Amino acid sequence: MATWEKNEELRKYYLNRAVSQVNSPRPEEVHASDVDGLCILKPYYRRKIQPPLPLSDLAILFLMRGLAIEFYLVGEDSPPPIRKDRVWCSVDDITSTGPVELKSTIKSARDFDPIHTYPHWTTRIKCYAYAMERHTFDLGVFFLMGDYREVRTSFDCFTLNFEQHELEENWAKILKNRDILEDMWATNVPVPPEIAVLYHSPDRRRVQFWQCEQCEIDGVCYFASEYLEKMNNGKYRLK
Ligand code: SF4
Repeated sequence: MATWEKNEELRKYYLNRAVSQVNSPRPEEVHASDVDGLCILKPYYRRKIQPPLPLSDLAILFLMRGLAIEFYLVGEDSPPPIRKDRVWCSVDDITSTGPVELKSTIKSARDFDPIHTYPHWTTRIKCYAYAMERHTFDLGVFFLMGDYREVRTSFDCFTLNFEQHELEENWAKILKNRDILEDMWATNVPVPPEIAVLYHSPDRRRVQFWQCEQCEIDGVCYFASEYLEKMNNGKYRLK
């Protein structure tokens, strides 16, 4: 009778092979993805810890997912990065109608709000829009699970429109985060926990630690090891 078993060795082989192809070197200066409102300690530790820690399996899978979708939509000719005020911006694509950010999600396509569902997406898009002196920016979203009524992958595109003051306010936050990160890099002192926690609370009310679940730094990060469980009343457990 036919039998089967899980093959952990083969799984690891493929993950290692994937990471060897997708692990690009970190830029010397701040990148928009370092300062878009997500954990500010991660880019600090990633610069400070040498050689870099291996990515978690989950982080590799997320990276593969994003890069694979981008590859099939854009190919290898992504636009050259733009540098503004010591912040590097990497726009995914530029079409005849303008710049585009490409994303994927397991959230439902039904009632998806391209501005509010993922605040860090919007922060990054506003950042790129400001750097490119644009008030509109396109977003393509690959919905891995469609709208869940019929589980069927879907792909939607949106045009986001911003007012100048929104872009300027967003850029001021980006520059504030840039200064905090550059200061940590220069002094070797990570921000204290009362600042670190703000990057895990997008609406400044509920604290979320989903970023730590896929973070390779969690064994080194002082915030994860000393504060995270306490702040989350023991609900979150490190790997
Ligand atoms: S473990 Fe959490 S708090 Fe620490 S660097 Fe990673 S994401 Fe940030």
